[in-house]
Amino acid sequence: MALYVHKYGGTSVGTIDRIKHVASKIVQAKRQGADLVVVVSAMSGETDRLLGLARQIQQQPNPRELDVLLATGEQVTIALLCMALETLGCPASSYTGAQARILTDAAHTKARILNIDTSRIRKDLAQGKVVVVAGFQGVNEEGDITTLGRGGSDTTAVALAAALKADECLIYTDVDGVYTTDPRIEPKARRLDRITFEEMLEMASLGSKVLQIRAVEFAGKYNVPLRVLSTFVEGPGTLITYEDEAMEQALISGIAFNRDEAKLTVEGVPDRPGIAAAILGPIADANIEVDMIVQNVAEDDTTDFTFTVHRNDYPKALELLEQVRRDLGARRVTGDDRIVKVSLVGVGMRSHAGIASKMFRALAKEGINIRMISTSEIKISVVLDEKYLELAVRTLHDAFELDKAPC
Ligand code: ADP
Ligand code: ASP
Ligand code: MG
Repeated sequence: MALYVHKYGGTSVGTIDRIKHVASKIVQAKRQGADLVVVVSAMSGETDRLLGLARQIQQQPNPRELDVLLATGEQVTIALLCMALETLGCPASSYTGAQARILTDAAHTKARILNIDTSRIRKDLAQGKVVVVAGFQGVNEEGDITTLGRGGSDTTAVALAAALKADECLIYTDVDGVYTTDPRIEPKARRLDRITFEEMLEMASLGSKVLQIRAVEFAGKYNVPLRVLSTFVEGPGTLITYEDEAMEQALISGIAFNRDEAKLTVEGVPDRPGIAAAILGPIADANIEVDMIVQNVAEDDTTDFTFTVHRNDYPKALELLEQVRRDLGARRVTGDDRIVKVSLVGVGMRSHAGIASKMFRALAKEGINIRMISTSEIKISVVLDEKYLELAVRTLHDAFELDKAPC
């Protein structure tokens, strides 16, 4: 018998009516004869609400306690969905992450799944039940509740699909697929029929929150067929798959953006070996992830060193750099936390020159100043002032004609 994993995000289970709607979709799918494992998120806004409660007590809550708190959101929806299924005459059992034996490491608030013991789930499926699992959570070796990072229910679904060797993992959400860019920013964005794992991973890493990065990584690694589709309108959605000949041969598949950026510069650093390590060492020691790095060509034996970090880490990074500046005898430290990153993504870039210059020209025409640039084989990212985000995304969408299907 075919086995599918469905995942319903926060908006899809945001009200009791929507939970009932999801239940009716599940019953319909079950009638077609498949085994179903369903992963649900917390009701929309609930995880933020819980975080808000914690922050009223502590700015930096204890991560172990935070996980105990945040995991409650999904515990509510699994139970409600099972009740809704029961009323439709569909036998179902709910499982928290621990009950589903989703074993993770001990990294509270960003835990990684190590193993899933699927024996109980399989037993339920064999009895004809729908299995409903709480997304976003697991349990570590000590028996403590862990969570998988924001958007982590996607990863729960993909990991379960891999462990159960499901025929497909269907991510039901509030958009009917993966678009050329976030349709909330560019209404002309176009739904893609297919996108490669590689491109989707790049889009997710560069800020497209439609799928959690780890979910895409997992799906690529274990070859889980993954589809993003709407809870509310029927349609084929977007299949995330390996590159093949049937794929649209697009130069650019999409535009991703990230608002959570900040940049820091140490000016007038003596130009000598070991400078990069001396600046970035304390940043790494403080567990702050660095994204783009630019070191200018030296003039008068000094240079400027710039890098970007997550906006949340900006105050801490600024503080650390002040100490570094004193130690190195650098001139001054400056920073800006009102910047964003906009990226073009596409495997077609590999075999085409001139994309970067076309991108820069289009932005220049609109008077948008580029502050930093970084490229890889399949992406070009630029850092811009925050106020240009929408304009830049729409300008690039037009310049590369992403609203039109490639022929
Ligand atoms: P869920 O709660 O179902 O997990 P999310 O809010 O995490 O849903 O993800 C869906 C949202 O992702 C959409 O509403 C959309 O605004 C946003 N999004 C960002 N980039 C894209 C993209 N390229 N294609 C589709 N949606 C995108
Ligand atoms: N509820 C969690 C969050 O809001 C997990 C998820 O929705 O995927 O991030
Ligand atoms: Mg999500």
